[in-house]
Amino acid sequence: GTLRFGGLYPNLAAGNNGALKRVGVKGVEIRKPEQLQSVTALIIPGGESTTMAKLAEYHNLFPALRDFVKMGNPVWGTCAGLIFLADKAIGQKLGGQELIGGLNCTVHRNFFGSQIQSFEAEISVPEIVAKEGGPPSFRGVFIRAPGILEVGPEVQVLAEISAPSHTSAKSDSAPESLEENAGSEKKVIVAVKQGNLLATAFHPELTADTRWHSYFLKMVNETSQEASTSTSLLPSE
Ligand code: GLN
Repeated sequence: GTLRFGGLYPNLAAGNNGALKRVGVKGVEIRKPEQLQSVTALIIPGGESTTMAKLAEYHNLFPALRDFVKMGNPVWGTCAGLIFLADKAIGQKLGGQELIGGLNCTVHRNFFGSQIQSFEAEISVPEIVAKEGGPPSFRGVFIRAPGILEVGPEVQVLAEISAPSHTSAKSDSAPESLEENAGSEKKVIVAVKQGNLLATAFHPELTADTRWHSYFLKMVNETSQEASTSTSLLPSE
């Protein structure tokens, strides 16, 4: 069948549509629960997670998103999308927000600080290079980026970087262990995979490198192949 990629409103257009087109698939915008039924896979883009959660709540999207994840559909969260997918989020100055969950990890929502502390870094991701080829590193665009502090045993760590020094000292909501480590070099996880879930703290859609989108497309193809194999095993009506 045709693969349709949903992107959670309102930020699909910000780079993902173009990146998807470059790997040969089309993205459609998802605002309402019923629209999820027409897509094979979903990208939950960056933005501002509190605002995105409010919009999703307004459209009663959370139950459908949780079902979509539980049914094993491929979902990729970038930045705020990673926060959405996490089982646990900390560092929420303005109070909590609803999460989709499913990704067994704890994220710090503003681990890398505020807007002015946004930065770019070269990231090494051996798993993607093994599957996609190309240069050994990736440009990571971090915009008020979250960091992954802890992962469960079923989570595959795809990339980690050294945490810039301000992340351990400055943030008043940083966990104690990070404050204690101020000064010493600390690694923080910035990309993970857990079964059907992919999550990145940075924004691959804002670079010309399409290997992340192409990698996600392969995840999607593998999943739909498994699905069609298991369907064909069912007795026909
Ligand atoms: N830290 C932001 C948040 O809390 C995410 C930023 C982003 O998606 N670029 O939502």
